[in-house]
Amino acid sequence: MKFSDIAGHSSIKKQLIQAARNEQVAHAQLFFGPESAPNLPMALAFATYLNCEAPGEEDACGQCAACVKNIKFIHPDLHFVFPVSSTKKVKAKDAISQSFLTEWRKFLIEQPFSDLSVWSSYYGGEDKQANISKEESRQIIRNLSLKAFEGKYKIMLIWLPEYLHRFAANGILKILEEPPEKTLFLLVSNDSEQLLSTILSRTQMVHVPRFNEDEMVEMLTRNYGFSSEEAGEISRVSEGSILQALRLRENADDNTQKVFADWMRSCFKMEFDQLVRQADEFHRSNKLAQRTLLRFTLHMLRECLLFQTAPGLLHVSAETEKFIENFSKVMVADRLSRISGKVDEALYHLERNGSAKMIFLDLSLSIAQTMKQPA
Ligand SMILES: [Zn+2]
Repeated sequence: MKFSDIAGHSSIKKQLIQAARNEQVAHAQLFFGPESAPNLPMALAFATYLNCEAPGEEDACGQCAACVKNIKFIHPDLHFVFPVSSTKKVKAKDAISQSFLTEWRKFLIEQPFSDLSVWSSYYGGEDKQANISKEESRQIIRNLSLKAFEGKYKIMLIWLPEYLHRFAANGILKILEEPPEKTLFLLVSNDSEQLLSTILSRTQMVHVPRFNEDEMVEMLTRNYGFSSEEAGEISRVSEGSILQALRLRENADDNTQKVFADWMRSCFKMEFDQLVRQADEFHRSNKLAQRTLLRFTLHMLRECLLFQTAPGLLHVSAETEKFIENFSKVMVADRLSRISGKVDEALYHLERNGSAKMIFLDLSLSIAQTMKQPA
């Protein structure tokens, strides 16, 4: 993780970089932010910066040996502690961070802007209450007493210290107050009120707010492949939460699949009453849903082509595969390319604010005709 992976928040980044450059880094810092704020990514980016071999004025270099390891979260001087529970594979007595490091690194790569519930289902904890056990505090002390062997700093990142078992919290007080030389604690919390005052008093607070709307648009387009219109609309309703934005897009897709299947059926059967009704519905839905349906159509046409040419490369659910298999009987290669062209045109007109109803009807008739034409 680098600072540039996090949109905005420039004054916080500046303050952290300044401290690192002046070698005045507080030995225990609390990255505090409300749920869905990017405080975990911020602490990770800071860790990367601190051990970078050629840090720039605004970010880590991203290329040195330390950065390469930090980007994969495998730097030997970056230690992690996070809430876990027993799972089907891991017994309660072994439920410490160390047992879940592989999953944790993958989680950080795939879903760094996330929360505890996503993490719990990720490592297989399901509904069990995750916490940071008292055994973990012994591990913390053991890990930190080993000499730093690569970087400038040895860093202990504790995610959600509010889940520290009371004994674990007490167990780390001493080392938190007087850590070995060049050892830093980065605590990342969503709920500082749940923290022991003895921990709070030993840390310096770095407040990380949620993304504002502009920052969300930047994150969604740059990191998650949203179009700028889609990002604009979703960022208005996702309250600064990347997770929420991704879920909204996913739900939109679920519904889209059904609407798409109904639509194609009506085209194939040439049910004109039905197509007019669907055009009305399309017209009434918002711009995001309209674009999503057309882009989804392009996506399905490509999947059909893939199914016909290299079926082994198809990665879809069994249900979708069944649909594609049937759809492919009608959608032979030549028809696929003709219809793709029509959908591209429809998207073009929609972007330029043509009447959604007319665009949809026109497209439906083209698709219906193409389905009947000789292939
Ligand atoms: Zn570097």
